[in-house]
Amino acid sequence: MSEVVQETHQEFWRPPSPVAAEEMVVREPVPAMAEACPRCGTEFLLGSRFCHTCGGRRPEAVSAEARADAAVIAGLWKQAVSWMHSVGAGVSWSKIQFPSWLRYLHFHEIKSWVGLSTASLIAFLIGIGCVAGALLVGLLTAKTYVDWQAIQFYRAEWLLAATASFVAGILLRKPSDRDSD
Ligand SMILES: [Zn+2]
Repeated sequence: MSEVVQETHQEFWRPPSPVAAEEMVVREPVPAMAEACPRCGTEFLLGSRFCHTCGGRRPEAVSAEARADAAVIAGLWKQAVSWMHSVGAGVSWSKIQFPSWLRYLHFHEIKSWVGLSTASLIAFLIGIGCVAGALLVGLLTAKTYVDWQAIQFYRAEWLLAATASFVAGILLRKPSDRDSD
């Protein structure tokens, strides 16, 4: 009995419970607080958590290293923004010079080049698209005979559609086109 009493006397400095001990170990040192208010620039009173002038919260002091990093990032951001501004100012969209060959893709250019009416040219383009679809069906890989059959059907349908639109293109030709042949 006397031993127990002695032990407790010897270990009086220990925290009463292991949980409390953990908390004490884990608790981080009080972070250094900022010297002046970032909002109004007033120097904080010793130990204060809020600015006595504007009531703003007292932030933790930013280490010199972090401040330098932030300055670098801010500088980069500012540079990027100004660069974007200059690019935006330099490029006026109406003055963009498209390559000269692009005008051959204009619809009326194609029309005059092919010598078809609008309707038949559209039908012709649809037919070209269907032929492309029939070719793309060939990219499908068939693992079973049923798949292979389905692919053949797809291809036949694409080709039928192409034929139909080509025929439509021929029928839609204007009489003047037909006369000029
Ligand atoms: Zn303040």
